[in-house]
Amino acid sequence: ATSFTGAPGTELAHHLSCETQARLPNPMKSIWKLSLGRPECINMGNGDPHHTLYPVSEISFKVPAVTNNDPVQAWRNGTGETQVLHAYKDEPSVISLRSALRYGAGAGLLEVRQALEKVNRLLHSTTSNTHTITLSLGNADAVTKCYRLLGNPGDSFLVEEFSFPGMTNAPLAQNIKWVPVKLDEKGIIPEEMERILTDWNEAAQGRRPHVLYTIPCGQNPTGSTLSLDRRQRIYELARKWDIIIIEDDPYFFLQYDIGALDTEAVQRDGFAASFARKLAPSFLSMDVDGRVLRIDSLSKILAPGMRLGWITCNPFFAEKLEMLTDSSTQHPHGLGQVFVAEMLAETGWGMDGFIRWVKSLCDEYQRRRDFFIDTFRREIGDCGFASAEVPEAGMFIWVRVHLECHTRYQSGDDDNTIVLMQELFQNLFEAGLVLMPATTFAIVGSGAKSTPHIHTRCHFFRATFCGTEETMEAGIGIFGKTIKKFFAS
Ligand code: PMP
Ligand code: PLP
Repeated sequence: ATSFTGAPGTELAHHLSCETQARLPNPMKSIWKLSLGRPECINMGNGDPHHTLYPVSEISFKVPAVTNNDPVQAWRNGTGETQVLHAYKDEPSVISLRSALRYGAGAGLLEVRQALEKVNRLLHSTTSNTHTITLSLGNADAVTKCYRLLGNPGDSFLVEEFSFPGMTNAPLAQNIKWVPVKLDEKGIIPEEMERILTDWNEAAQGRRPHVLYTIPCGQNPTGSTLSLDRRQRIYELARKWDIIIIEDDPYFFLQYDIGALDTEAVQRDGFAASFARKLAPSFLSMDVDGRVLRIDSLSKILAPGMRLGWITCNPFFAEKLEMLTDSSTQHPHGLGQVFVAEMLAETGWGMDGFIRWVKSLCDEYQRRRDFFIDTFRREIGDCGFASAEVPEAGMFIWVRVHLECHTRYQSGDDDNTIVLMQELFQNLFEAGLVLMPATTFAIVGSGAKSTPHIHTRCHFFRATFCGTEETMEAGIGIFGKTIKKFFAS
């Protein structure tokens, strides 16, 4: 394909980086793909080790059975039933190890993509005509590939003004500049985004941003989740200003406060469909133009070491991403792909079982979040030195330190937020607690006009509620004692 047209009048080829435009397909993969459509054809061209020489004939994964409504608890206690997923090289399986262990296409195994397409249809109402799936080695791999797909040296990308440094560091070496957009507990403020775009002066600032990198649920680090209204307004802005949205959503599955599922709805439509209706609609679900690259990961719901995720986007961008994969990382690990295919198949967890696991995980993390907040309120009380918003998703709490109550705090030109926060970080560290300071996440934009004085807004720490109750109790205890001493100093 040479281009992609979504809704009438949308043409996306001009978003591609020079690197993408210059990239050639891997010529051997192109020939190999020809032979996929002609299984009777003898392929003596590829240096593919013969399957009889693979030293594995069978693999099994022991997993919790996910038949009841709270499999996570039973699994943790070791009291629940277990289930074994099998795959074989020479006997029938969902994916034979013959296919999984040989060289494959960059997009990943067809069976895995088809299973994930079902997940997408359920959660984002996508159709395979408008959006296709390419597997990734997790969101870090996917997001950085998207930067290379779209970014030219000198380009400016929009981003939340506090963001995940693993991902915001990456394209700096490509000479991509970040333009930070203010956010609050409901995520990016659309008016701020619009102001930046309207005020943009191409003569002085270079090409107007054509990419937004956003973390819509349980944003890392602020824990904010974009409201539906804001999502719609941001998508409309993206259409108006011709912006591609990179929707990095590793915490999408961890949305809280959705309550128990309605038993009648579960009986009528199944567990997965009933759960899906409770989730915030993604940018992908609104994407009539094909301008969303949605990035999903199994890291937070299965395990980060799986290194498996998927990119959903228009087929034109997908082809370019596959070309990058075919000439760099190659497809994800075969055994991981086997696990996903076996797990999502009806002989494994199936879609309902997978979502039962996810919902049970949400319930567990929600309990941990609530424990964190209750402990925090008890320790900090009404001393007024710190506060925390209750996040609707993800793993993070953005703890605000009320520096304005400190006798040594100075605002205005002599603002000493960074100095005081550094002192508090050091005091906490000496007392035995590490929290992530806001400065770690602050995006210092290239255009000083875009978000002035971010240092004055760095009076936050990122804390996680992933850990055990004992860890949280001890950590928040240290925080309470230390902050009271700090404010008295
Ligand atoms: N993006 C964000 C916003 C994240 O929080 C993380 C995980 N910390 C990643 C990407 C990387 O995820 P993965 O393990 O899927 O590469
Ligand atoms: N460590 C590594 C190596 C990672 O890749 C990541 C996330 O990508 C993390 C830790 C966790 O990051 P966070 O603390 O934001 O969850």
